[in-house]
Amino acid sequence: MQLHFLGTGAGMPSKERNTSALMVKLLEENGEMWLFDCGEATQHQILHTSLKPRKVTKIFITHLHGDHIFGLPGFLSSRSFQGGDEPLTIYGPAGLQQWVEQTFALSKTHLTYPLQFVEVHEGVIYEDDKFTVRASELRHVVPCFGYRIEQKDLPGELLMDKVQSYGVPKGPLLGQLKKGQDIALDNGTIIQAKDVVAPPKKGFTLAILGDTKYCEQAISLAEQADVVVHEATFDGSTTDLAASYGHATNVEAAKVASKAGAKYLLLNHLSARFLPHDLPIFLAQAQAIFPQTFLTSDQAVFYWNNNNLLF
Ligand SMILES: [Zn+2]
Ligand SMILES: [Zn+2]
Repeated sequence: MQLHFLGTGAGMPSKERNTSALMVKLLEENGEMWLFDCGEATQHQILHTSLKPRKVTKIFITHLHGDHIFGLPGFLSSRSFQGGDEPLTIYGPAGLQQWVEQTFALSKTHLTYPLQFVEVHEGVIYEDDKFTVRASELRHVVPCFGYRIEQKDLPGELLMDKVQSYGVPKGPLLGQLKKGQDIALDNGTIIQAKDVVAPPKKGFTLAILGDTKYCEQAISLAEQADVVVHEATFDGSTTDLAASYGHATNVEAAKVASKAGAKYLLLNHLSARFLPHDLPIFLAQAQAIFPQTFLTSDQAVFYWNNNNLLF
């Protein structure tokens, strides 16, 4: 899994930070890419990368503020021009489907691929054999959701030395053991899968939170998560201001990660008021509460590898 940040700024784009978009690359896990939010010019940010829009199979929108959706019509139509014919599903709050469909109707835009909408509600909004995605409403000035992506545990490896010592022949029996099924050899010996398969490997948990003030819902979405992506529009000196605008500070984001028992915290949605020379202090304020905090920047890529986040 890789997290490729395409836009890490707050409401207004700046030269350094575009509006919100985060590509979650799951190429090793399921061959897909999932995009979280699609602020204006997200497709231009993608032009600087090797990311392929047709590989994006799901888009999760946190809320309907322009800095999170104004790039959507452009992204969706370019995906058509670039030969995308794979179906795409968009998850988001009520009203999103209407907005996209009206935009397409008025601009006479036609897509070459099936587009499906899922209106997000509290609870599990997607599940397959590899992932579960849950949504919960945060506390912003409009309905805004956070998403928790849980990878299901991966089946343990077949321990080949053990398999060989039991004399299991190569072929379909190995596959059955790998699936956790016990087998019988020709000589009548029963081999139990648990004796020759390593324990399952724990999947990762990722919490991607939309705009929000400090809230319990953020903590519960981030509970024991490996990586939490939390907004930090304000800093510790402007906590009251942050809450009145429905936003959080770097310090509050760190409190969320700490209370949730998360492993890593990535701060995004940074206001353009913070200039590059402000950022070391901005980061230090959060790290004082949650040491494993990192700042995101446009085009920063974080890699999930053996239960560690590398960049
Ligand atoms: Zn925003
Ligand atoms: Zn917002």
